[in-house]
Amino acid sequence: MVEKIEEMRGILLNMKEATLAEIQKSLRTGTDAPDVEPSGDIYDQASSERDRELDLLLGDREREKLRNIDEALDRLGDGEYGVCEECEEDIPLGRLKVLPFARYCVRCKADIEKLQAQTRRFEEERVYREIAFTEEEEG
Ligand SMILES: [Zn+2]
Repeated sequence: MVEKIEEMRGILLNMKEATLAEIQKSLRTGTDAPDVEPSGDIYDQASSERDRELDLLLGDREREKLRNIDEALDRLGDGEYGVCEECEEDIPLGRLKVLPFARYCVRCKADIEKLQAQTRRFEEERVYREIAFTEEEEG
């Protein structure tokens, strides 16, 4: 399975580069840096504001994506990549190409999603009951 690993490593590294480039691009368009170099406290303030901005710009989506990529690369290094974490069967290369972060085979993923949907439904019902209870108490 060496070919699969090398191919997926290439795909993941490309994806990481593309994500980083995307972040860089959004940073460049997001900050119209003035030519005048501010000094002292103003600069410190500006840079901490820039950090906050960067955090906002990066967003959960990009951070999550980078984390997923790094985790997948870690699994590649450990030789755990491309193996379903649930049933330990090989995940088909076709699925990995579409979903490079896939940790489960199609069958296990479907089971997990079904379970998650049930849990979510249960959680929602619980919230509705709590709202209903609160309204009853207030009224
Ligand atoms: Zn599985």
